[in-house]
Amino acid sequence: MSDTTTPPAEPYTLASPLDALDWRNRAAELGTPYYTPQRPTPIADPYPVIFNADVAALLGLDAEAMQTAGYATVLSGNALPAAAAPVSHRYGGHQFGLWAGQLGDGRAITLGDIETESGQVYDIQLKGAGATPYSRFADGRAVLRSTIREFLASEALAALRIPTTRALSIVGSDMPIYRETAETAAILTRVAPSHVRFGSFEMLFYDRRFDALAPLADAVISTHHPEIAAITDPATRYRHWVAHVVECTATLVADWQAVGFCHGVLNTDNMSILGQTLDYGPFGFLDRFNPEWICNHTDAGGRYTYRQQPQVGLWNLGRFVQAVLPLLDDDPEEAVAIGQSLLDAYRETFDAAWLARMRAKLGLTDAKDTDRALIESLLQCMATDGADFTRVFRGLCAVSGASGGHEAAFVDEFVDREAARGWLAEWRTRLGDTNADDAARAARMKGVNPKYILRNYLAQQAIEQAQAGDYSALERLHDVLRRPFDEQPENADYARLPPDWARGLVLSCSA
Ligand code: AMP
Ligand code: MG
Repeated sequence: MSDTTTPPAEPYTLASPLDALDWRNRAAELGTPYYTPQRPTPIADPYPVIFNADVAALLGLDAEAMQTAGYATVLSGNALPAAAAPVSHRYGGHQFGLWAGQLGDGRAITLGDIETESGQVYDIQLKGAGATPYSRFADGRAVLRSTIREFLASEALAALRIPTTRALSIVGSDMPIYRETAETAAILTRVAPSHVRFGSFEMLFYDRRFDALAPLADAVISTHHPEIAAITDPATRYRHWVAHVVECTATLVADWQAVGFCHGVLNTDNMSILGQTLDYGPFGFLDRFNPEWICNHTDAGGRYTYRQQPQVGLWNLGRFVQAVLPLLDDDPEEAVAIGQSLLDAYRETFDAAWLARMRAKLGLTDAKDTDRALIESLLQCMATDGADFTRVFRGLCAVSGASGGHEAAFVDEFVDREAARGWLAEWRTRLGDTNADDAARAARMKGVNPKYILRNYLAQQAIEQAQAGDYSALERLHDVLRRPFDEQPENADYARLPPDWARGLVLSCSA
């Protein structure tokens, strides 16, 4: 595989290690009205930026062979694996609370799906591979900046054990792309068991193509939920499936809240049917804790703040459940009642998942009614003080439960140290005798309170170097984020508070 110097007019077939994968192309088989055949548009002189051996391993793809052969031609879409059947997906969505009509894969092209030896299915998708029937007024491309942010964030979340799409590679091209300024193009290879969204079903509902709901639902269920697929009565099967979507969405949002991750654009077209984090744009990890923080400059009304995310998860599920009501019962009124009862499970599931995660962050191994108040009072202290979300919890791991020794790591994160000490006293009382083994508790807590998160300024530094042609900072940051719970004393700089210049970083949807 050698890189082309001028792009071919059409992608051609090129032998590569991707050929050794077991291609299934279920999306292409499902066809209209869900998927449209669409080949990538070749791009000038693609070059390698970063390749992720972790994701290659998931796929059963020979990482070394991919790198030696040069992955840029085939992972830019200039050439295709022989067995690929590329498609773009048709979906709609509610954007910032309003039905936006048809959106679809405007710049993402799924080459196909593959099945690994263990039976796991993955879509292999090129994001930024050129225009599709769904590009509307836009260019079908992505800029290097946004692909690096998505690459790093998806890999950071995966390492934090949060469900997410993954990133296999980035390929660059010097083709100019015009956003606020001229930037260069890049193509991200995104990998996920499915890229179907809530908006995939909403699109069919708003088209009044109720007949088209079941085939898509069945495709999702049979590929990803064999235990639900085994239910023969269709209405019962779909109810179980919807209950599952509600549950995995609730636990995903709880995962985000527990690490201070703000998605930024929680439109229903960005909500994965598998409860994975999907479509990274102007996301942000909280540094100074402010529950009202708006990480997306485009979200002037603050619809998608950290505090709002749990509520937004439920609202989005409401749009999804509305779309699939025809599957739940033939009688519309009965379907609404069933849909409502399925949604009613959200709050309890979210709440239990959130409490479990927060208890673990505080090192608690049992549950008491007073725990919620203890957690809320810490979050209140942090918000009043603007303390760093990640450093506070990591600092707490070191504090002795019995004596309060080593409290500086925690208390020094606050301006109001007396308030922090006051909270520590409550925490130590709560720990009581049951958690007397400081070392064991610290080890446990360090396994859930990361030391390293993707701070915006770290991403920005990696981006600026990459834009100058040096990918070493990107590689190094990726490597740090792969092990977020490890001490990594040699990388302690990456766990520092953001520098002052980073406070002004503003992110918008432009990508
Ligand atoms: P996003 O905010 O990235 O989730 O995108 C919202 C919608 O806009 C999706 O339908 C995208 O495919 C589409 N879109 C975003 N950027 C582009 C682009 N550069 N070219 C074509 N479509 C795009
Ligand atoms: Mg999107």
